[in-house]
Amino acid sequence: MNIPIQCDCGKFRGTALNVDSSRGNRIVCLCDDCQTFAHFLKRPKDILDANGGTDITPLRPAFIKLNSGQEHLKCLRLSEKGMFRWYAGCCNSPVANSMSPWVPYAGAFTAILKPSGGLSAREKATGPIVGCIMSDYGIGTLPPNSSNRPSLKIILGVIQYLIAGVIKGLQKPSPFFNDDLKYPRVEPYILSKEERNSLRKFVGPNPSI
Ligand SMILES: [Zn+2]
Ligand SMILES: [Zn+2]
Repeated sequence: MNIPIQCDCGKFRGTALNVDSSRGNRIVCLCDDCQTFAHFLKRPKDILDANGGTDITPLRPAFIKLNSGQEHLKCLRLSEKGMFRWYAGCCNSPVANSMSPWVPYAGAFTAILKPSGGLSAREKATGPIVGCIMSDYGIGTLPPNSSNRPSLKIILGVIQYLIAGVIKGLQKPSPFFNDDLKYPRVEPYILSKEERNSLRKFVGPNPSI
């Protein structure tokens, strides 16, 4: 199934091709880094669920096509070696996270997938959330499928997903990295330790705000 990708203001658009709910692996990440990213974007209430979680659907970089507004694509790294966190700077909508250019996995923010059939169509396309991970950072009463470490089922699912992607070469062409996968298409902004720490105080089970 092909699903339109759109930031909240509509300037940044694309299409996620071949999204297949049978692949599963949609998770909610409760970690402090994902929460820090939402606070960096100054939209934690829009981006995070009530537990501080981020809903992530795995996509193949080769199956993400950007149609308009590429100039709004921005990238944040929480540290020198942190994940590449892509977002649409026009309205600070998170787009996807990449571990490295060579990994055929883009953890897309499920909310950026906007099929014409609305929420129910999206649920159908992405499949259900298989678990909430990094529960040590979760806020309030967490869903029963929460755990700090990912379950064996989730780990095996991700490994299988990665191996299949490597075999098929689905890490490129990537909307996020150049064609030889050496450079990000936009220069990432890397948070200093001070900047990171200033955001950290808003995240986790006992935010100091
Ligand atoms: Zn936008
Ligand atoms: Zn996370």
